[in-house]
Amino acid sequence: MANKDYYEILGVSKSADADEIKSAYRRLAKKYHPDLNKTPEAAEKFKEINEAYEVLGDDKKRANYDQYGSADGPQFQGGAGGFSDFFGGGQGFGGGFSDIFSDIFSAFGGGGATRGRMRGDDINIAMKLSFDEAVFGVEKIITFNRIETCSKCNGTGAKGGKDFSTCPDCRGQGRVRYQQSTPFGMSIREGVCQKCGGTGKIIKEKCEECSGRGVKRVQAQVRVKVPAGIDDGQTIRMRGEGNSVANGDNGDLNIKVSVAQHKIFKRVDTDLLFDLYVPFTTCLLGGKVEIPLTKGTMTLDIKEGTQSGTVMRIKGKGVKVLNRESYGDMLVTIKSEPPKTMSKQTKELLKQIENSFNENDFPKNKEFKNKMKGL
Ligand SMILES: [Zn+2]
Ligand SMILES: [Zn+2]
Repeated sequence: MANKDYYEILGVSKSADADEIKSAYRRLAKKYHPDLNKTPEAAEKFKEINEAYEVLGDDKKRANYDQYGSADGPQFQGGAGGFSDFFGGGQGFGGGFSDIFSDIFSAFGGGGATRGRMRGDDINIAMKLSFDEAVFGVEKIITFNRIETCSKCNGTGAKGGKDFSTCPDCRGQGRVRYQQSTPFGMSIREGVCQKCGGTGKIIKEKCEECSGRGVKRVQAQVRVKVPAGIDDGQTIRMRGEGNSVANGDNGDLNIKVSVAQHKIFKRVDTDLLFDLYVPFTTCLLGGKVEIPLTKGTMTLDIKEGTQSGTVMRIKGKGVKVLNRESYGDMLVTIKSEPPKTMSKQTKELLKQIENSFNENDFPKNKEFKNKMKGL
């Protein structure tokens, strides 16, 4: 069990979103990176920050930590696992981490991050969801343009995928030696073969489909599993569904969702709030009122003598927490509504009722009056 408060270490609130956590981490990592900060406590602090980010920067670990106080937590049952793989509110370790480090190093002019394989660009698109789709999750097929590996030539750019000859300059090695004469004699350098770009192959006839580029722009259709509980402004990251690049990895597809408002509920994280106006007599006498839920309705019992403004919390009737089997609450604020019009007869009756009370029936009002007397 972890006894450290990772939220405190990163200086963020428990409800901080992935972007806040990432930027808090980025700021602190810069401040305490041992290469940049030579104070004795920096190394320890840096270790602590990394430990915190390793957990809070990863959706699944964070959920475990929130629920069980440990990043390892019990394994998730059911279908939860799949989502956290691509749900990119908080990047999984691969991308986010190295991104941040290359940022740090470039910010300070250091070397550090080595360039790996080529990678296609990420694609960012927006997706609109209804309130219910966000609450219950949905599968959608989205259509967008992206650059894909040419299927006709398997990304080689050569006709039929095999219309090559061996590069004459490098004899298929991809690298060549150049002889240069210098004032001190001949010098030999090795470098990437200019003729074949290092592939060792020369395309004899170009693939007609992609004009020899190996990739082409197509209209793609991707099935997106929107997890139940996603909120407005969050992003679903689908690894490898972005643009392709010849001889490299695919970029990611980032889908930012915007969620439509509900007619009645206001959503705050996983809680649902609304004001319930009832006749003032219901507040006085108590009563049963039918209220909406995300699915169906339920009967709410309003107790006799309920104050206007009372908030009733209905546990577990809010929105599902992402990647977890738990739910937020429904918060109903009771509002006592006075009648808009009153007949003469009603007024007389109310007058009689007013007179039937004495000051001890309204202790708060009595207390107030007493305070007024003392002024
Ligand atoms: Zn092709
Ligand atoms: Zn060559």
